[in-house]
Amino acid sequence: MHCPFCSAEDTKVIDSRLVADGYQVRRRRECSQCRERFTTFETAELVTPKIIKSNDNRVPFDEKKLRAGMMRALEKRPVSADDVEKSVNHIIHQLQATGEREVPSKLVGTLVMDELKKLDKVAYIRFASVYLSFDDIKQFDDEIAKLTNETVIKD
Ligand SMILES: [Zn+2]
Repeated sequence: MHCPFCSAEDTKVIDSRLVADGYQVRRRRECSQCRERFTTFETAELVTPKIIKSNDNRVPFDEKKLRAGMMRALEKRPVSADDVEKSVNHIIHQLQATGEREVPSKLVGTLVMDELKKLDKVAYIRFASVYLSFDDIKQFDDEIAKLTNETVIKD
């Protein structure tokens, strides 16, 4: 990187170490022109992307809303709050792992369905029937059939 003092293009790393429990790299650099030394820190950028809604509006990702949507589908189902929390974290992690600044809301819906499918089949069907807004009973049947097949394979 360029020297912040004299803008020379050539600086070299003279020391590099892990800090912050290994989540950060601290580098000591020296400018080959003016010999000034400076420090840089490198960390992973974990940004939860903005959500692109179907009307093209961009909204910040809303963890509370995500959890509420999942809880609605999981109402009165035998799933622990702990497992719900793990799923929420898993979804957020996957969104961050895309490395994108914005993702379509459809992706969030797909991730939620994947998690619910693992947590509870009934909750999955509840969510999917609202989310995919099954137009006709045939589409609903197809989804149930897919789910049944998957269950048979898995068991
Ligand atoms: Zn310099």
